[in-house]
Amino acid sequence: MKKVLAFDIDQTLNIAKTPINDEIADLLKKCLHHFEICPISGQKFDQFLVQIVNRLKDPTPEELSHLHLFVAQGTQYYKFNTEKNDWELVYDYPLTDEQVAKISETIEKCARELGFWEENRLQPGDEIIENRLSQVTFSALGQKASTKDKYQWDPDCKKREKIVAKCKEYAPEFDYEIGGTTSINAITPGMNKKFGMTHLLTELNVTKEDILYFGDMTQPGGNDYPVVEMGIKTITVRSHEDTAYALKGILGVI
Ligand SMILES: [Mg+2]
Repeated sequence: MKKVLAFDIDQTLNIAKTPINDEIADLLKKCLHHFEICPISGQKFDQFLVQIVNRLKDPTPEELSHLHLFVAQGTQYYKFNTEKNDWELVYDYPLTDEQVAKISETIEKCARELGFWEENRLQPGDEIIENRLSQVTFSALGQKASTKDKYQWDPDCKKREKIVAKCKEYAPEFDYEIGGTTSINAITPGMNKKFGMTHLLTELNVTKEDILYFGDMTQPGGNDYPVVEMGIKTITVRSHEDTAYALKGILGVI
């Protein structure tokens, strides 16, 4: 019997960067009564609240105490403090200002050289490169682009593979991972989901065998692959619908 269900977010629990639907919210809430629930994603803390926590229907502090937020690939960990009735940051491993600047310059230069710098398609106030503290994220069409446009931009990952190959030439000291629909996450080596999952083992005092992980990018080069490499049992999903199907199966046999 697994003790922990861990989840990628984009394309695993939701449609990339949107709040989870009612069905996933309901299933996650039920799971909180049987498992420690650990979303782990490259996104920022506020997006974990918008996309997951705020979608749970009237959660009690006791329920939230079983929800563990592994933000920015688990380089930040937030848990719910039932006494203060609020989320608290347990640890944080940010990039330095110099690292953020070097990565941002490199990705922009490479995307421009390849003709994939889509500044003219950005919506007002949006940005292509975002500093997420523990990682820098390239989103080809910005955060606010429509889901349809995002899906159409790079469905076979070929554009992002070219950008990554070029970035590795100019700044090989960083790792670049393809995630979501238009994103590349740049990190310092090892600051990927393996880092987050390794800390999860310590923080929750569990073993790899206690965890079942759900992700959509489990192929080599995908941002869920480090979890596979660790030897953690992984379910590859194509969408939140696959995840819902699996969770119903799990809850059905408890
Ligand atoms: Mg994903």
